[in-house]
Amino acid sequence: THFGYETVTESVKQERVAEVFTSVAESYDKMNDLMSLGVHRLWKDHFVSSLNPGATNPIGMPQRILDVAGGTGDIAFRMLQHAHVNNGNPNVHVTISDINPAMLAVGKQRSLSLPASHQSSLSFLEANAEVLPKTIADNSLDLYTVCFGIRNFSNMPAALKEAYRVLKPGGIFACMEFSKVDKYPIFNAIYKQWSFSAIPLIGQLVAGDRDSYQYLVESIERFPSQTEFRDMIAEAGFNIVGKGYEDLTGGVAAIHKGIKP
Ligand code: SAM
Repeated sequence: THFGYETVTESVKQERVAEVFTSVAESYDKMNDLMSLGVHRLWKDHFVSSLNPGATNPIGMPQRILDVAGGTGDIAFRMLQHAHVNNGNPNVHVTISDINPAMLAVGKQRSLSLPASHQSSLSFLEANAEVLPKTIADNSLDLYTVCFGIRNFSNMPAALKEAYRVLKPGGIFACMEFSKVDKYPIFNAIYKQWSFSAIPLIGQLVAGDRDSYQYLVESIERFPSQTEFRDMIAEAGFNIVGKGYEDLTGGVAAIHKGIKP
């Protein structure tokens, strides 16, 4: 049946993704810098400032944030820094959730060098974004983030439904993901050349793993366009503000947001 076929391909994808991230966990942070020439740091800084965690009215109100596919902690650590330091709000708590224990282990290790007050506002959760545990109650979160994770999910609509379930009314879904550069043909050609030639090669030379980086490049290619993905977010029930997304570096990445009504 069609359903049977889908189940098989979904579980194959999930296994492949597990292999990839178990294999890349140790080299993940270094590889991000090399593959993006450091630009991923600027995107992540921008993503977090645009969400302005910790800015509550009145000031100092608690906020609960879930960073899904949080991997080695880049987004969660920035959230805590922004909320606690920039906005002076220590009552912001972030949970890093990820399906992959190897990625979480690197994240936990890295978190040990954070200030103690940040560490005590951070938790880790091994979970599949498509079936979050019921310990994350319905309508319980202020902010749900997912960065460079959702294209790896086998069932994106299921994950969006879970995001909708756990957010409070008024809560924000925010996703940063690789996207399409179609508007700029020359830049797109250079970018494609970089992706398909340089990235697998860097993967081979630096991480000793060409196949995983080949998979990552192909998964970017298969991911829906900015408008298609926005429509999926709306389909899950979120309200879309304006055009619903912001392109970064000509669309190499894009930030999508939705608000739970
Ligand atoms: N958010 C981090 C960042 O921006 O650096 C890590 C992104 S990393 C490219 C993608 C992460 O998605 C991996 O850690 C992987 O284990 C996780 N992942 C893949 N499928 C998942 C799923 N179904 N549920 C939760 N996490 C998943």
